[in-house]
Amino acid sequence: MSNDIRVRYAPSPTGLLHIGNARTALFNYLYARHHDGQFIIRIEDTDRKRHVEDGERSQLENLRWLGMDWDESPETHENYRQSERLELYQKYIQQLLNEGKAYKSYVTEEELKAERERQEKAGETPRYINEFLGMSEDEKAAYITEREAAGIIPTVRLAVNETAIYKWTDMVKGDIEFEGGNIGGDWVIQKKDGFPTYNFAVVVDDHDMKISHVIRGDDHIANTPKQLMVYEALGWTAPEFGHMTLIINSETGKKLSKRDTNTLQFIEDYRRKGYLPEAVFNFIALLGWNPGGEDEIFSREELINLFDEHRLSKSPAAFDQKKLDWMSNDYIKNADFDKVFALCQPFLEEAGRLTDKAAKLVELYKPQLTAADEIVPLTDLFFSDFPALTDAEKEVMAGETVPTVLEAFKAKLEAMSDEDFQPDNIFPQIKAVQKETGIKGKNLFMPIRIAVSGEMHGPELPNTIYLLGRDKSIEHIDNMLQSL
Ligand code: GLU
Repeated sequence: MSNDIRVRYAPSPTGLLHIGNARTALFNYLYARHHDGQFIIRIEDTDRKRHVEDGERSQLENLRWLGMDWDESPETHENYRQSERLELYQKYIQQLLNEGKAYKSYVTEEELKAERERQEKAGETPRYINEFLGMSEDEKAAYITEREAAGIIPTVRLAVNETAIYKWTDMVKGDIEFEGGNIGGDWVIQKKDGFPTYNFAVVVDDHDMKISHVIRGDDHIANTPKQLMVYEALGWTAPEFGHMTLIINSETGKKLSKRDTNTLQFIEDYRRKGYLPEAVFNFIALLGWNPGGEDEIFSREELINLFDEHRLSKSPAAFDQKKLDWMSNDYIKNADFDKVFALCQPFLEEAGRLTDKAAKLVELYKPQLTAADEIVPLTDLFFSDFPALTDAEKEVMAGETVPTVLEAFKAKLEAMSDEDFQPDNIFPQIKAVQKETGIKGKNLFMPIRIAVSGEMHGPELPNTIYLLGRDKSIEHIDNMLQSL
């Protein structure tokens, strides 16, 4: 059953899909799907200077990768990019000009700059002061004629009602209000290049596309009164607004910034590293929202069912890479083998490691993978030199009983026939060493593990030995014995 709920994600294609934008898209998506409404994508490309060629592709491709779908977008609908809608904006700008609710402004950049500097020096809040202030009708006409003759191209400004109060009940933040006099004076709705400004175009589009709820980041709160002014001037009813709190970096406590190069922030990065999209989707859904309770792992369908806009958080959402990695590992651990193998395959192929053992190796390391690209360093043992030991590992190997354990286990491996050398038969051999030597637990398993794999924490031991092969395992143990 459909209804009147229509929400939109309206990216400006000024860069790749960032985690913050992905969250905006995702909450709009969840809201629409939960309420059987519609989810729309519109491209806000009026800022030609900041336009990035690949921006739109990255947005759509990565949203799709995350598992979102939409009902309307530039792919299926005409004029869903702002640059294709100039006529429509023009129509309403003309209407406002005709009604005297907007006017052409001939003030130059230099004049505006000089005025701004004067205001700053005088300790005044910078604002545009109406250039026609105090002019008679005749003086006004002469000023316009003179400026037009000088070739000055006007902008169009909205005549702001300075005493009006603009308020709304925000879906996230509750009641918010701004005074008309506090937004910096009559503001530009059409730039010199004929393009509308964002705050004007967004209103025309949201009205034209019958958007019922505008859910976006709280960096847009200060834009909302300007947008409400346009709704008022054009005689339209404004949609509901919801402004989500910002995302902070859990390490620094500061706003997540594209300059934090230590944090992966673009969805493309996660995709390239071989994260499972379901895990990233789940993680983003919990940035500033939670369904209550202790559980954190939810499928897309569960999130759609559980989504409740009343639970959108009022406090900043912490982006915690460790949590994402924990979640990602949980998804990979529990995913079907074929899915994980497919995810690892390109990385193994690129490293020249797509051998007949590849499937077994993926199976071996699946429980500890966070992202598929890790399969390459993890499988180094099988393809490159024996790793250097850490101090902690060296300390274990200095243990008194280590040579006894290694000698005994080596003898067991040597005594196994080719047919016997199977994963299931290797563990009993370790147990036999225990029986023979009386050495057990850590003192038994650790030296064998380190001698064979060079690591204290690795995948399951019998399988590692099996995949390494008997000869290689014996060789590693021999080398270790010699180095003791
Ligand atoms: N194009 C705006 C942005 O990328 C969207 C603003 C809005 O949702 O109204 O921030």
